[in-house]
Amino acid sequence: MSIKRFAFALHGGAGARSGRDYSVAEYHMRELTENARDRLASGARALDVVEYAVVQMESSGLYVAGRGSAPNSAGYVELDASIMDGPVSAAGAVSCLRDVVNPVSVARRVMEATPHVMLSGAGALAFARTQGFEEVGEPRKYYTLPIGVNEDEIADQTHGTVGAVALDANGELAAATSTGGTFGKLEGRVGDTPIIGAGTWADSEIAISCTGTGEYFIRTGAALSVACRVRAGASLSQAVDEVLADIKHLGGDGGIIAVDAAGRVEMIYNSEGMKRASADSANSVFVATFD
Ligand code: ASP
Repeated sequence: MSIKRFAFALHGGAGARSGRDYSVAEYHMRELTENARDRLASGARALDVVEYAVVQMESSGLYVAGRGSAPNSAGYVELDASIMDGPVSAAGAVSCLRDVVNPVSVARRVMEATPHVMLSGAGALAFARTQGFEEVGEPRKYYTLPIGVNEDEIADQTHGTVGAVALDANGELAAATSTGGTFGKLEGRVGDTPIIGAGTWADSEIAISCTGTGEYFIRTGAALSVACRVRAGASLSQAVDEVLADIKHLGGDGGIIAVDAAGRVEMIYNSEGMKRASADSANSVFVATFD
């Protein structure tokens, strides 16, 4: 019996700086990617697999998302996340959510249990509570510095994100992204991560998750722009390269992971590094942070 083609990729953020040791995060990404591959091989849905991977990264404290998030300029953590289910073009997102362990799962619940796409701030927290999502408890004890970030960089616009894209054996695509945003950001700042079409996109042909200074990804409509270029005939790598070039032109940098309906995966960045991993039905797991 031949296995139907599937593919998976994740990123742990494009804020990686050369000379730093990301081996612990790389080990974690390898384990997660092997797990995601096994789930897809046994017929799991792309939507479930991307949520699973992002939940694990949020809870790990190794990346700037969930537990690894740093406070905004007012001294508390605000979380952004989104998820998109390609075959039905359904999407859910949360922004400026406080002290919930897994924002991406709240985003999925917004998609599945409300008529809305995004809930923000106090409303997002109230919704998470009514839905019984786990809360952080004691923020001061819970949040931790992620791998590769020093204490003195907390106000330094350091940033990071986690994301995952998948094609499952039924040909369905999904994407999810989650972040603590840029360190020291203004209270109420929303980056690209929860904005469908900027930080996250999935349809019947492609799934995309972005990382980098979010303002540039919003200004270029990055994720949807990749999808439109592919629809207009560009190759996946060409489309991602062009959008990253637009971002560079505006003064930004970052990275994009994408998978298409044929199982092609691209993980491209124009920052110093991007923590990333991929696997598919034909190839073994690939993990890297730099070139
Ligand atoms: N895109 C995220 C944000 O601007 C940060 C990152 O990906 O590093 O909130």
